[in-house]
Amino acid sequence: MTQVQVAAIVTTGAEVLYRQALPVTEFNAALGELARTLMLTMEQASGVGIAAPQIGVSQRLFIVASRPNERYPDAPEMAPLLMVNPELLGHSEETEDGEEGCLSVPGTRLSIARYRWVDARWQDAQGKHHQQRLDGFIARIFQHELDHLDGITLLERIQLQERSPA
Ligand SMILES: [Zn+2]
Repeated sequence: MTQVQVAAIVTTGAEVLYRQALPVTEFNAALGELARTLMLTMEQASGVGIAAPQIGVSQRLFIVASRPNERYPDAPEMAPLLMVNPELLGHSEETEDGEEGCLSVPGTRLSIARYRWVDARWQDAQGKHHQQRLDGFIARIFQHELDHLDGITLLERIQLQERSPA
């Protein structure tokens, strides 16, 4: 097995962050390796989530990994979850404001409105489909990472939010 290396995290201004990422179509060894690289890179950066475009790969996958940490002391603990081709099937009516940071937007914290819960569907590394309702902080990470797949960082999200207040 190839040794997995930590990847460089791209930041504000990198073109890949503003592109619509492409669906994953092959559930092969390369996908597994990409997922392990994402996982390792996120762990090294002490993130609670990371999306493939953040390491320069314009494909629709990310990891959600809520856990209590310095930045989010009240975050629930969960095993890191790889989500391939994630979709938002439905969501709560209400939104909730919460502070967000981003590994690709260093030194910035912004209050972003997100749905309180979302019904999410995704595939795992083998292509198997999963569906689940995600709540609170985990739902927030999901929405943040899904934005990355659609070329939206929190800087663009806050502009969208100011243009059409909830
Ligand atoms: Zn981010």
